[in-house]
Amino acid sequence: QTGIKEGNKKIPHVKFDDIGGQETAKNELIEALNFVKNLDRIKYMGIRPIKGILLSGPPGTGKTMLAKASARYTDSVFKATSGSEFIEMYAGLGAKRVRQLFKEARQSAKKYGKSSAIVFIDEIDVVGGKRGQVTSHLEYDQTLNQLLVEMDGLSVDDEVQILVMATTNRIDILDPALLRPGRFDRIVQVDLPAKEGRLSILKIHTSNKPLAEEVNLEQIARETFGFSGAHLENLTNEAAIMAMRGNEDQIHQKHFLEAIDKVIMGEKLDRRPGK
Ligand code: ATP
Repeated sequence: QTGIKEGNKKIPHVKFDDIGGQETAKNELIEALNFVKNLDRIKYMGIRPIKGILLSGPPGTGKTMLAKASARYTDSVFKATSGSEFIEMYAGLGAKRVRQLFKEARQSAKKYGKSSAIVFIDEIDVVGGKRGQVTSHLEYDQTLNQLLVEMDGLSVDDEVQILVMATTNRIDILDPALLRPGRFDRIVQVDLPAKEGRLSILKIHTSNKPLAEEVNLEQIARETFGFSGAHLENLTNEAAIMAMRGNEDQIHQKHFLEAIDKVIMGEKLDRRPGK
C-alpha cells in the first residue's frame, strides 16, 4: 500500500475522476491542495500552510482513493501507513517508526525528484485516541506525541513539503491535540454516497464490463441505499461473476439484482458476533 510506481515515479495512478460522487469532499480537497501547489504565493502572502487533512467517514467510501488522487494532483510521492501498523510495536518503537515514516517520505521525494510528499495514515484513531485514557496506552501516547512533534516541525521552508493525510471513522475519539490549528485543521467529511453518487460509482465500475442493452443502473442505484463505494464495486464484480456462471456474454439486470442480495447477505454474515 505504498503507492504505485509509474515509470520511475512513486505517484499513485488514481485520479479524482476515478472517484464517483463525493463532489463536496473532492471540491474541498482540491481547494486545500491548490494551496499546496502554490507554495510561493502562500509564502508571499504569509499564509500558514496546510499541514494536515483528516478524511472522516465510514469504511469503504473512497478515503484512501481521495488521498492517492491528492498525491497525483499535487505531483507528490505517496507514503502510506496504517494506525494498526503501530499496534504490535514495543515500547519506544512506535515513536521511532513515526520519525522513520517522515524521513522516508523526504528521501523518497528527493529520489524521485519531487518537491512534495503526502504521508498517509489510515485509521489514525488507532494511535490518535485521547491520551491518558483507559482505551489508550503509554505506547500509543508516545506514538501520537511523536506525530505531533513531526507535524509541528513542518515548515514552508523545508526542502520537501510534507502534507499529512489521515483517515478515521471515529473522529469523536480523536485526541483534540490532533485537531488544533497547524495540525489536522482541515476536516473533509466523506459520507456514504447518495443516489447520484451511487450511480456514478456504478458507472465507473461497470465501464470495463460488457453490459446488456437493458441494464438500468439508475434502478440499481435506487435500490442500493446504504451501500458504500466498496460495496458497489463488490456488487458489480458479483454481477459479472453471476453472468459468467450462467454462461452469458453480457451482464443483465437480473445479475445486478441478485448481486444486491448477495452483498447485503454478505454484510449480515460479516456482522455475526466475533466476526
Ligand atoms: P477504509 O476506511 O475501509 O480504508 P476507504 O474509505 O479508504 O475505506 P477506499 O479504500 O478508498 O475506501 O475504497 C475501497 C474500494 O472501494 C476502492 O478501491 C474502490 O474500488 C471502491 N470505492 C470506494 N469508494 C469509491 C468511490 N467513491 N468511487 C469509486 N470507487 C470507490
